[in-house]
Amino acid sequence: MFKRIIPLKFIILFLLCCSQIDTAADIIILSNVVTMEETFPRAEAIVIKGNKIIFVGDEKSALKYKSDHTVLIQEPDGMVLPGFIDSHVHLIWGGIEMGECLLSGLTSQEEIISKIEAYAEEYADLNWIRGNGWSLPVFKNGNPSKSILDKINAEKPMYFLSADGHSAWVNSKALSIAGLNENTRDPINGRIERDSKTGVPLGVLREDAMALVESFIPNYTKEQIENGLFISVKEANKFGITAILDAGTESINQKKSEEDYFDGLDAYREATKNQEISLRVNSSQYASPSSWRKDLKHIKNRRFINSQGSMNTVKIFADGVIEAGTGALLDPYVGTNNFGVLNWDPDTLKVVVSTIENEGFQIHFHAIGDKAIRTTLDAFEYAREKNGSNNMRHMISHAQLIHPEDIERFKKLDVITSFQPLWAYPDPYMKELTIPVLGPIRSKWNYPLKSLLSAGARITAGSDWSVTSLNPLFGIEVAVTRQKPGSPDGEILNQDETVDLEDILKAYTIEGAYSLFRENEIGSLKKGKLADVILLNKNLFNHPSNSFFLVFMLSAV
Ligand SMILES: [Zn+2]
Repeated sequence: MFKRIIPLKFIILFLLCCSQIDTAADIIILSNVVTMEETFPRAEAIVIKGNKIIFVGDEKSALKYKSDHTVLIQEPDGMVLPGFIDSHVHLIWGGIEMGECLLSGLTSQEEIISKIEAYAEEYADLNWIRGNGWSLPVFKNGNPSKSILDKINAEKPMYFLSADGHSAWVNSKALSIAGLNENTRDPINGRIERDSKTGVPLGVLREDAMALVESFIPNYTKEQIENGLFISVKEANKFGITAILDAGTESINQKKSEEDYFDGLDAYREATKNQEISLRVNSSQYASPSSWRKDLKHIKNRRFINSQGSMNTVKIFADGVIEAGTGALLDPYVGTNNFGVLNWDPDTLKVVVSTIENEGFQIHFHAIGDKAIRTTLDAFEYAREKNGSNNMRHMISHAQLIHPEDIERFKKLDVITSFQPLWAYPDPYMKELTIPVLGPIRSKWNYPLKSLLSAGARITAGSDWSVTSLNPLFGIEVAVTRQKPGSPDGEILNQDETVDLEDILKAYTIEGAYSLFRENEIGSLKKGKLADVILLNKNLFNHPSNSFFLVFMLSAV
């Protein structure tokens, strides 16, 4: 099937060097062209010259652009789309993780243990064993013990980030290096899991408690970070992703000093400035409750915009996640007095949002619980009253549990959501750790993609990779089925919230482009736009929706 794969890098080089003034095409693709343009949604052909689209329309007219050097691609069963845009991903981080002890996808303790044993043996020269991707539901209460790791290696410190990135599992050696014991207090917005009688740490650190150990781990080097970027760009291109928002680019290293400091943002700035990667990148930097004014000063100093990339977004965490009991809820978790963790005082948050907005930054929130989402919307509303209407295109990512009374506010306040559609089916996180703690009424509110669309709000989509798969086709399938990928008989999560294929494709393309302030350059296929074009081996509109995940990329331009 891979009869005409054109490596992306080759094409980009090729396009940069060929800029004759004549109208001969570099590439003509004849296939089912889905444009994401409302006035002409479908076409038979697309013509590319240099890095621009010069024609979209019928086959006969397209062939008039053919010359000797034109590459002609014919895929009658395929589908041409604008490149996918991932509106919430941790790209470099994902690339770095690919080189560590990867536990993602492992579903039993035995598998996890043997993977760690093998890694620790293979990389015996490392000072720290680092890994990631363990799934909370594999362990009782999402709470693996330090003793499991101690049995593998008690001498060497170990640090394993969970798949959702909100918990870390460490061994006794790591706890002792960090000086954590029964006398250590929980940090603000963090929790050390402990023995209920003795208070001794059990080996799992939630949210900001992770930093207590992380700050003792040596920084990643410039080389590791750049390698992570190049690996992950390849991975993204493989799935047809041509533009992203990196949702928090600074967290790769716990900052030790301003000097001799190189992080993901530096890597993005260099790579986009020198056009070394085949990806458009908007990146972001964190502001945290304890230091936001200082953070903002630092963020302003680091702001950059070039033709391929930018950092003009501030990332804020409003709360944690429901499965760890840290998502902030309006009513308590079932059977408890726990309302989760709202990271900000609501009045402070209003000042923070209006101040950051005034500095000309887009704000990208992590907000999951209904209280976190309401508090965030309140802060946007306050900023709107104070600063007036503007074009800042603020975003709420994840947006898991939106109180029905808040749905209308998204359109009213022009707040864009970035959903992770792949999370919206009954997986173990949902069935074992979410629905039981929310109860039946609130569980119906999970991931209300359709409700927001019906209310006229803009939705975009992202993977949150490396939390979950980077492949947009998985998310597209779940958005239209709300079932586990590849499971036509699988349970459905809130059928009313399924969306049309066209709508979810818009979220992954033109709406994503809007959220990146690039809708005039990319996100749809029309004459004059940049040639961020992908070709799938199947036309999704003629394909069973429970097997989108089997469709693959033929080429990316
Ligand atoms: Zn994220």
